[in-house]
Amino acid sequence: MNPIIELEKRYSAHNYHPLPVVLTRGEGVYLWDTEGNRYMDMMSAYSAVGHGHANPRLIHALVGQAQRLTLTSRAFYTDRLGPLLEYVCELSGQDRALPMNTGTEAVETALKAARKWAYQVKGVPAGQAEILACEGNFHGRTIAIVGLSSEAQYQQGFGPFPSGLKCIPYNDLEALEAAITPRTAAFLVEPIQGEGGIIIPGRGYLQGCAEICRRHDVLLICDEVQTGLGRTGKVLACQHEGVQPDGLILGKALGGGLLPISLFLAREEVMDVFRPGDHGSTFGGNPLACAVALEALKILVEEQLSERSAELGDYFLRQLRQLRSSLIREVRGQGLFIGIEINPRWTKARAVCEALMKNGLLSKETHEVVVRLAPPLIITQKQIDWALECIIQTFQDLEE
Ligand code: PMP
Repeated sequence: MNPIIELEKRYSAHNYHPLPVVLTRGEGVYLWDTEGNRYMDMMSAYSAVGHGHANPRLIHALVGQAQRLTLTSRAFYTDRLGPLLEYVCELSGQDRALPMNTGTEAVETALKAARKWAYQVKGVPAGQAEILACEGNFHGRTIAIVGLSSEAQYQQGFGPFPSGLKCIPYNDLEALEAAITPRTAAFLVEPIQGEGGIIIPGRGYLQGCAEICRRHDVLLICDEVQTGLGRTGKVLACQHEGVQPDGLILGKALGGGLLPISLFLAREEVMDVFRPGDHGSTFGGNPLACAVALEALKILVEEQLSERSAELGDYFLRQLRQLRSSLIREVRGQGLFIGIEINPRWTKARAVCEALMKNGLLSKETHEVVVRLAPPLIITQKQIDWALECIIQTFQDLEE
C-alpha cells in the first residue's frame, strides 16, 4: 500500500473511506497526485471549490489579508466583516447574517434561532418548539443535527438526541401540512438534496413549502450549503422557484475552496432574537475568511459563474442523457450539480468512481448508487467534452 495512505490509516480516525489517491496539487479543474498523474476534479470538495483550485484572485485576497490582519475574534470590529455581510445580504435579499465556520455550525445556528424565535415571537411555550426536516436530508453531524436525520448510520450509538425534531418525507407537501403543529418553529429543507443523492423535488415544491409555512407562521429555512452560490445555475437554488426563505444557510463555496466560512442569514425579526452572548464562535467572521468570501462572491457575480453553471450544466446533462448503458438507471441534475444513478444489479457507484479515477476523473459515490458530477464552475465546454469521453469509455470498460 502507498506509505502515505498507510500513515493516514494508522493515525486517523476511520470516519472516512477515501478513494486510494494521494493528492498534492490543484489548479483550475485539475488535481495532481504524488506520482504526477493529472485528474479532472468532478467532486469539487463536495461543491466547495466552485471557483477552481488555486484561483488567482482568491489567492491574492488571501495573501493580502494574511499580511494585514487574520484574527481578532468578535471582541472587536474589523474592517472586513461589515462589507462582506452587506454584499451577501444584498445578493440574497436577507436582512442580517451571522458568520460561523462550517456548514454544520450555521445549521445549528439556524436551529437555535428558530427555537428562540418560536418562544419569543410566536409564543410557543419554553422548551416545546419543534423543528421539521426531510427524510434523506444531510445538514451535518452534530448531535442535534443527526437527531434530524433519517439515516440509521448517522444515529446509531450517538443518542440521546434533543426532543422536538421530526423527519417528514421529502417532496411531499401533504406530509408537511400534516406534520405542522402550533409548536412548529421551522421547516429545514435543501432545495435539492445533495448527499441524499442529487434528489430534485418536483416543480412547485419549494413554492408550496413557502406557502404552507407562511400560512402556519412557520419559518422556512433553506440549507443552501451545497446548492448555493451558483452550483445549480442560479446564485441560490431557491431562486429557481422565486422563493425567498425566512432563513438561509450558506457555506462551502463561500470560502472559495480556500478556507471554511459559513453564514446563517435571516429576516430581521428572526435574527434579532439573538442577544450578545447567546451564540458565536472565536473564528466566525474572522478577517481572513471575510476577505476571501467577499472576493469569492464578487467573482461569482462578475464572472457570471451561475449563468455558466446553468448553460454548461444543461449541455453536460443533455450529453449524459444520451449515454446508453445498462449500468445507468437515471441521470439527473440542475446546473453543474449532476448525479448518475447506477443500476445496483450491475455494480456499485464506488466501483464506477474507482474506474473513473483510473481514467483520470475524480468523483465520489453517494449512497452507494449515485456518482456525483459537480466540477468547479469555471470548467470549460472543452473540458466537459473530455469528461464525457472519459465517462463513456469508463462505462464501456465496465460493461465488458
Ligand atoms: N448542509 C448541507 C446541505 C451539506 O451538504 C453539508 C456538507 N456536505 C453540510 C450542511 C455540512 O457542512 P460542513 O461539512 O461544512 O459542516
